[in-house]
Amino acid sequence: MEGFAYSAPQSVEEAVAVLAEARRSGRRAQPLAGGTDMLVQMRTVDRGERLIVDLKRIPEATRLDIGRTTVTIGAAVPAAVLTRHAELEKLFPGLVEAVDLIGSTQIQGRATLGGNLCNSSPAGDTIPALFANAAQCVIRGPGGERRVAVEQFVTGVGDNVLADDEILVALEFARPGPRTSDAYLRFIPRTEMDIAVAGAGVSLTLDAGGTCTAARVAIGAVAPTALLVPAAAAALVGSRVDAAAIARAGDACSAAARPISDKRGTADFRRKVVGVLCRRATAIALSRASGG
Ligand SMILES: Cc1cc2nc3c(=O)[nH]c(=O)nc-3n(C[C@H](O)[C@H](O)[C@H](O)COP(=O)(O)OP(=O)(O)OC[C@H]3O[C@@H](n4cnc5c(N)ncnc54)[C@H](O)[C@@H]3O)c2cc1C
Repeated sequence: MEGFAYSAPQSVEEAVAVLAEARRSGRRAQPLAGGTDMLVQMRTVDRGERLIVDLKRIPEATRLDIGRTTVTIGAAVPAAVLTRHAELEKLFPGLVEAVDLIGSTQIQGRATLGGNLCNSSPAGDTIPALFANAAQCVIRGPGGERRVAVEQFVTGVGDNVLADDEILVALEFARPGPRTSDAYLRFIPRTEMDIAVAGAGVSLTLDAGGTCTAARVAIGAVAPTALLVPAAAAALVGSRVDAAAIARAGDACSAAARPISDKRGTADFRRKVVGVLCRRATAIALSRASGG
């Protein structure tokens, strides 16, 4: 070990080169975005020496671009920028409300969407919302760029597909078309600043007559990773998102959940609550997609 060190690369190429060199020389290196997970972990569970590679000076990672067909959110854009972006909120109100649940005003000044995903906590609030919106993870490493569907990114508690010399550069979304919207809800025992006991993200598209033509439903904090629930989406697609379809979607979420019992809630409670959250989030996404 060579102690602690800090590097602030100015480009993706430079960041990847720094990480790759650390890997070659057997030195531990770790990307830093907002540090709101990492610094807490460095003071509690993992005090090990390392080279910290700050991503916040990289233009591609700090860019937010709303294009005609694609929306790109740099992995290191602060939450506070995302929650104050009116156009982004109009396109992805559920994703923005998930970001807005992270910590406090102070935390949101540093915390990032990329950090929430890369920390890969089962309870990360933005992860079900990213699943619901079919985000693509844009990853760069020494071999170039690769893209991974967000539901394949997280592989376990605190684990994901990134190699030691790769960084998540951005999250990319298809720009939502007409009558498409989303919602995210979580349950916590307190009114704020707590970890989700269960969460549900829903995105749906309606045709001009109000029939659901596409849906994605995801749940969080009820399994080692967030889960996409295709059976819940199937319950909505083809329906007019009436009470019976919404109830079937909720039941599918409860059935898909694989929760643990801990001091925050029993497995039975989580299984039940995640169904309720799915139903409520679906009703909100429906109202938004209907122009409500
Ligand atoms: C008081 C408090 C309240 C909180 N409340 C919530 C909450 O309600 N909901 C919630 O979900 N979270 C919450 N968090 C956790 C944390 O704020 C979020 O997970 C936040 O989004 C992490 O982002 P960050 O940029 O700070 O990540 P960092 O701490 O910088 O990084 C987290 C991890 O991801 C890695 N990483 C970060 N970015 C990249 C990248 N681009 N490429 C590769 N690896 C990367 C880092 O190496 C590290 O391992 C809270 C934290 C605190 C301290």
